[in-house]
Amino acid sequence: MKTSFDVIVIGAGVMGASIAAALVENGLDVALMEKGIGGGQGATRDTGGIVRGLELDPALRPLTRRGAHHGSTGIVHALFEQALKRTGVAYIASSEVCGQYLDAVGTEGTQNIELHASVSALDNGRFAAFCPDQCLLIERNGGTVDARVTVSNLCRYVSEKATFLDHLAVDRCIELDGHVQVHAGKLCLEATWVVDACGADGPLARPHGAVHARTIPFTRLGCDQAPSMPVIAHHLNTYLLPLGRTLMQVGGQRRQRAAHASQLNLSVMDNEQDVMERVARLGYDRDHCTPVVTQIAWDAYTDDGHPLIGRASAKSHVYLATGFCGIGFKMAPSVAELLAFELGGLMSGTSMDAGHRAIMQAFCPSRFTEVALS
Ligand SMILES: Cc1cc2nc3c(=O)[nH]c(=O)nc-3n(C[C@H](O)[C@H](O)[C@H](O)COP(=O)(O)OP(=O)(O)OC[C@H]3O[C@@H](n4cnc5c(N)ncnc54)[C@H](O)[C@@H]3O)c2cc1C
Repeated sequence: MKTSFDVIVIGAGVMGASIAAALVENGLDVALMEKGIGGGQGATRDTGGIVRGLELDPALRPLTRRGAHHGSTGIVHALFEQALKRTGVAYIASSEVCGQYLDAVGTEGTQNIELHASVSALDNGRFAAFCPDQCLLIERNGGTVDARVTVSNLCRYVSEKATFLDHLAVDRCIELDGHVQVHAGKLCLEATWVVDACGADGPLARPHGAVHARTIPFTRLGCDQAPSMPVIAHHLNTYLLPLGRTLMQVGGQRRQRAAHASQLNLSVMDNEQDVMERVARLGYDRDHCTPVVTQIAWDAYTDDGHPLIGRASAKSHVYLATGFCGIGFKMAPSVAELLAFELGGLMSGTSMDAGHRAIMQAFCPSRFTEVALS
């Protein structure tokens, strides 16, 4: 069995699977290792899969922008596109917040954005009486991507063209001079570079205090009619995700935090009541809404709301791609492309252009190490 690689990616959630596929496409010799099945464990298991280009935080826009940073569209973008149901995404928000979103339109194209002074243009006006002071923004290019289909196709691409090892938990990594040993049970593999894409989980040390785990509760509700497209209800800090004609998923806000996913309290608590109150404020009559199931999912978070993408420390051969703060699904193709460009460049000795360096700098893990030391 082959035991030596250019890059080993640990974790086959949407991020690790996307990164591995992009690296393979760029000609690198890759192994992708997953403790369970691809996309079946961490945040990706429960993702809503909503993809949208509009982003309030300017620092995140390079990661949510469609298309390529470096001129190629690539396998990851193509597989996302294949599984995308382009329903559009609706934002219900104040005129001030809609204005902030419109700042991001430049990257999405104005022809895909509709701004309405009231929410009556959505679903025959069903939200109009309940959100009288809000505006409506529709991003026509947005929609939802089937996460299961996408991650399984990404993993299949990696297994056909490189190496995909699932049901194999990595126990530890040992950094040696210029390469890294990866241990999983009796198996010891090695690579020039390792990417830690283990989300809020995983065996590798990260910069002190950089990443923590947070719960993301949601409730699935039977209702008279689900919205025609995903709705981001800003004023209520929630979303409605249609799962069928009369079934929708609604985000709750009773959140827990812990250092690691395994320490989270996953009890349902009062999440169902919380969600019922939010949907009632959007006009869904409690008598015609049936909570079907409440689930406590989680993701990896950082205190500044930006992911960690880059070398774990200046000399390390371990890259981190984690801390996606509940919105990482839509970012996976762009993150994969950035890391494929970076690691491809390192393997071939090509220096990075200034644009690439500036994007990577914003997400550099050492920002946390520096804060901790000062
Ligand atoms: C309820 C919910 C709804 C969401 N909705 C959206 C949305 O609509 N749009 C959006 O953009 N984002 C959304 N997100 C966020 C998005 O899903 C996450 O940011 C993204 O899935 C993170 O992917 P990841 O690959 O970094 O982590 P994960 O999916 O957590 O993957 C980590 C992987 O690492 C593996 N692993 C861990 N330890 C080891 C080990 N020792 N050895 C080998 N493998 C290991 C795990 O098994 C897992 O498969 C949502 C998240 C949740 C929870």
